[in-house]
Amino acid sequence: MSTPEQKVTAAQQSEPRTYQLLIDGKFVDAASGRTFETLNPTTGAVLAHVAEGDAEDVNRAVAAARRAFESGPWAKMTPHQRGKIIYKAAQLISERAKELAELETLDNGKPIRESSYVDIPQTVQHFEYFAGMADKLQGDTIPIGGNVFTYTMREPIGVCGQIIPWNFPLLMAAWKLGPALAAGNTVVLKPAEQTPCTAMELGKIFLEAGLPDGVLNIVPGFGEIAGAAISHHMDVDKVAFTGSTEVGKLIAEAAARTNLKKVTLELGGKAPNVVFADADLEHAVEGALFSIFFNQGQVCCAGSRLFVEESIHDEFVERLANRAKSLRVGNPLNKDTHMGPQVTREQLDRIKRYVGYGEEAGAKVLAGGRSPEAEELQNGFFFTPTILDCVTNDMKVAQEEIFGPVVSVLTFQNDKDLLKQANDVVFGLSAGIWTRDIKRAHRFAKSVKAGVVWINTYNMFNAAMPFGGYKQSGYGREMGFQVMDAYTQCKSVWVDLSENPIGWFSN
Ligand code: NAP
Ligand code: MG
Repeated sequence: MSTPEQKVTAAQQSEPRTYQLLIDGKFVDAASGRTFETLNPTTGAVLAHVAEGDAEDVNRAVAAARRAFESGPWAKMTPHQRGKIIYKAAQLISERAKELAELETLDNGKPIRESSYVDIPQTVQHFEYFAGMADKLQGDTIPIGGNVFTYTMREPIGVCGQIIPWNFPLLMAAWKLGPALAAGNTVVLKPAEQTPCTAMELGKIFLEAGLPDGVLNIVPGFGEIAGAAISHHMDVDKVAFTGSTEVGKLIAEAAARTNLKKVTLELGGKAPNVVFADADLEHAVEGALFSIFFNQGQVCCAGSRLFVEESIHDEFVERLANRAKSLRVGNPLNKDTHMGPQVTREQLDRIKRYVGYGEEAGAKVLAGGRSPEAEELQNGFFFTPTILDCVTNDMKVAQEEIFGPVVSVLTFQNDKDLLKQANDVVFGLSAGIWTRDIKRAHRFAKSVKAGVVWINTYNMFNAAMPFGGYKQSGYGREMGFQVMDAYTQCKSVWVDLSENPIGWFSN
């Protein structure tokens, strides 16, 4: 295979950093004194030693968040003042964009072109948007008529636990924090154990921006310990979770068994990305490539089931395979690298297992299917862009989320056949369609069971546009005005205006 594999340079190696927990406005060690390591997936070297939060630390963080919510300066601030702090944080992130992009690439392995042009700018846009949301959360007056005046108001929920994954570490933190803070909540955030670094830098940025103590607490640690302590906590009012469907179910169960805290879940996906014969094929090839190989395929909405209309199958997969083989896999700090390493060795092994399942079931590897051979990449967790052809929708590789750079190619005969297959999966996060037929595109958008549909494009995001899943891809929406439903609660107020009120039992 002719994949140009990029060299890993000395810039990858430096002394490990250290990070503590952020509790009540101070950086502190874990109560246990324990730490864990986060690795640089490009080299396998230790990137940082990080304080390992456990239940006791979560207790301290929740207590601080409770105080800040009920009685701290945050509780007395006007929405406009809250918005200004969030906006200031966005500005500080912009000022530190280059350093944050590099840190994200070192911790996660994503190409620097992605962290520089997607993760960091989207994070900034997200905080700017929600800074503006803070003073626009209005209630309604409801025209019931008669002698009553009735209105609603939106109030914050309280202490929010936020548990996030490793695929877009800073951006996932922004998705969660922007709306929570805009609405006046306080937060205990748990970043993923694989990628805690940029969340801790974000903590510093918010303190510098003037966020009062205790409003944002960050407790890195392990999911089964720190994450479970949040989801089981009796004084956490809401949990927002992004991650696997399996853990999402545990979160919902924990909430149900404890204090019925409110839950929103952004979970896995197995998106159908559909190419009709009438599509602009060059555009569709590039779209299919981007939909699955962006971020090494570690994207919940990745176009991992590529449905190609039977009549163009051979030509399309040949073009796609040629393009996949030309992608540059290597050092993610190089500006021209297309794909860096997978986040961990466990993920790499999982991806290899799934390629094996595909082959056993009869799928054919048209590109990739292995780790690159270049000597300097052997300590990292690299895999090559992989195309599995001859997949049928009942195979494991068509039904389960691989979360790596592996696309399963399926075919369909007509619209009806397509829709049946596309919807025959437990997930429903996103879908894509490539066609020049405007009616067909909108018919598909209406009938596909997915929370997001892209027509002749893929992976587009904006803080103003809601995002979230159907079926086992979760519930609740992030972004846009919709997310504010998850971070506020509605209070209905009744006022009697009658001059001579008469009691129900008065005659
Ligand atoms: P994961 O294993 O579910 O972990 C997600 C987060 O949950 C991590 O912070 C993890 O902590 C924590 N966690 C694990 N076990 C827990 C438990 N028992 N109780 C409470 N928290 C727990 O998922 P992942 O492998 O990191 O991320 C990949 C998944 O996220 C994929 O399925 C992907 O589709 C999904 N995702 C969805 C969206 C979306 O918007 N729908 C966006 C991005 C990713 P540790 O890491 O410390 O164990
Ligand atoms: Mg790491």
